[in-house]
Amino acid sequence: MTDLSLPPRIDRLGELANNLWWSWHPQARNVFRTLDYQLWKLSGHNPVMELDQARSDTLQAAAADPSFLNLYDSVMSAFDNEMANSGAWFTTNYPDLAHSPIAYFSMEYAIHNSLPIYAGGLGVLAGDVCKEASDLGLPLIAVGFMYPQGYFHQHLCAGLDSCQQEVYEQLEFDQAPISRVLSAEGRVAVANVQLGGTNLAIGVWQVRAGRTNIYLLDTNLEENPAEHRQLSARLYVADRERRLQQEIVLGIGGVRVLRKLDINPVVWHVNEGHTAFMTLERIREELAGGTSFGEAMSRVQSATVFTTHTPVQAGHDIFPAQLVDKYLKDYYESLGIGREVFFQLGQQTGPSGQSFNMSALGMRLASLRCAVSRLHGEVTRRMWHGLWPDVAEDQVPVIAITNGVHVPSWIAPELHSLLEGYLGRDWIDRHDDSHMWQRLLDVSDDELWAVHQLLKHKLINTIRHRARQRWLADSTAPAELPAMGTLLDPEVLTIAFARRFAEYKRPALVFRDIERLRRIVTDEWRPVQFVFAGKSHPADLPSKLLIKQVYQLALDRQFQGRIAFVENHNMHLARYLVQGADVWLNTPRRAQEACGTSGMKASLNGVLHLSVREGWWCEGFNGANGWAIGSGVTPSSPEEEDEADAEALYRLLEEEIIPLYYSRDRNGVPHGWVRMVKEAIRSIAPAFCARRMLKEYTERMYRPVAKA
Ligand SMILES: *Cc1c(COP(=O)(O)O)cnc(C)c1O
Repeated sequence: MTDLSLPPRIDRLGELANNLWWSWHPQARNVFRTLDYQLWKLSGHNPVMELDQARSDTLQAAAADPSFLNLYDSVMSAFDNEMANSGAWFTTNYPDLAHSPIAYFSMEYAIHNSLPIYAGGLGVLAGDVCKEASDLGLPLIAVGFMYPQGYFHQHLCAGLDSCQQEVYEQLEFDQAPISRVLSAEGRVAVANVQLGGTNLAIGVWQVRAGRTNIYLLDTNLEENPAEHRQLSARLYVADRERRLQQEIVLGIGGVRVLRKLDINPVVWHVNEGHTAFMTLERIREELAGGTSFGEAMSRVQSATVFTTHTPVQAGHDIFPAQLVDKYLKDYYESLGIGREVFFQLGQQTGPSGQSFNMSALGMRLASLRCAVSRLHGEVTRRMWHGLWPDVAEDQVPVIAITNGVHVPSWIAPELHSLLEGYLGRDWIDRHDDSHMWQRLLDVSDDELWAVHQLLKHKLINTIRHRARQRWLADSTAPAELPAMGTLLDPEVLTIAFARRFAEYKRPALVFRDIERLRRIVTDEWRPVQFVFAGKSHPADLPSKLLIKQVYQLALDRQFQGRIAFVENHNMHLARYLVQGADVWLNTPRRAQEACGTSGMKASLNGVLHLSVREGWWCEGFNGANGWAIGSGVTPSSPEEEDEADAEALYRLLEEEIIPLYYSRDRNGVPHGWVRMVKEAIRSIAPAFCARRMLKEYTERMYRPVAKA
């Protein structure tokens, strides 16, 4: 952020812009939206940039405009009320724990698009946790990395081997909602960690998400050697050595940073294995205080909780022993433990001492562990049975707390205000109350459908706008325009598939029988269109080939421009997609998707979920709130699985989904469809929201640990 000179009457705009609280409060969004609508759009909804670039006569005019001032005053007073944290759920229910900080460590955070420091679902979840913690009044403090280049921007190009071109852009720090945190002595370097022969200095940035503070580490400091200044530049680098260095900085450095800022958590949450080195540093601290190793370990355990997020083996960080020795030998020797004891901490299966598994470290050094859906709980207990060989599989101590999404962030503002008319003006404060949602049945079909159509138009306009920008910016061939979605039609049944591209998510499943798909898509009276979006990890070649495959089919004239691939999927695009599509497609392979959250965002907005029975859908599907692909019977091979699921998907489309969508009354309203939309929102919003999830985290993990 930069120093701003704002008219005195509205001089708290800077403070508001620098607290992402504004992003999930519609009235606060309106402050920036109405201040200068063009700049709001041009900045990509980034008020820090907007204020930085606003003309002084615009600001003066706002400071003299009674209706703007009305809005401004009411938003600032709501903001002050919430920041005062009186009467929040946590403070009311756990007053004795109100000052017991919970440290939450995560490799990525998706809080807002002006801060592109996330890659996908894990980051979105962490961002939603921070926001909901603020709403509920949890004393949560988050720790992560401030990556100036974040994750890459994706450009697609038919001429490329992989189709996907990765472009890294440097974030302008003074146009982002972050501020420098200095050490008590006023220095930029707040803490240090030893990395090989270097004593690396760590700087810190602060992000405010309501009451939640997020501290982001940064190694790009003058005193650091050139090769390490870039250490925190990018997220999920493929190079193993870099990754290990990053995880040392985040885990060990993160603890040191908190201590320097005089923050002393009573609960430490390791969110996914990447951040598990934080447990080692706390053991080191205990040892320095004279405790024995065994005692230190049990103290650290009793204050630690761990969430595992993936059943896919490749999703777990496993480092070769030689790298671990290179960077951590001095460290484990300083703990006074031998190599063998150290390596056992990170051992899952196979002989000890050959590799180090970060999830195993997290599992071992936590006292409570959770998976992210009921089904993932079962899979995780099976996967980690080896750590508890003496108990039955179903007794392996890993509980399940199903993920949820932050409702105020993901619900469309238009739907939010429609619901105010039916559920009460304060419905958003009670959104995890399933009783309240019964009244959704009173909403008029016509009104709900009209809001949905509006959101669909917004989605399609956004896609066209993006295509136009690309068309203007470079040498996109005319033939590529339809693949970018320029021929999409807001009257046509629209199915979206948008998430990270990974093989196990099977983005191309629907292309298994091209001729059958062509018939479905190009039906003259009841056509269907597909919108794809998603990035492949730069090192994941098989998934890049899937992008190429989808993009080439999108280019194929026989699909009449009804298949689109929208490039550079991010939170901003995701909002339009989960709010404006008709159907949300989800096709991961069995036992590979831990939970999935995009379908929750979609269902919350009445976008119907069409998914295999995996992750959260196993507990979310009730027979009337979307569709389940396949029978849930385990197939004998991946080939058979693809065949059976594709067949089930086509049949659902042909026999149920398309007829239901196109069955309309005289005003064009599909009442049967709208009934299902209401059932989706009613049953899914209260159960799969971040509020329910964080209450469970509190009651089943944070509180027991804080009490101990
Ligand atoms: C919600 C979200 C995801 C998660 O997608 P799933 O595959 O459903 O878990 C990924 N990326 C973005 C940008 C999201 O908003």
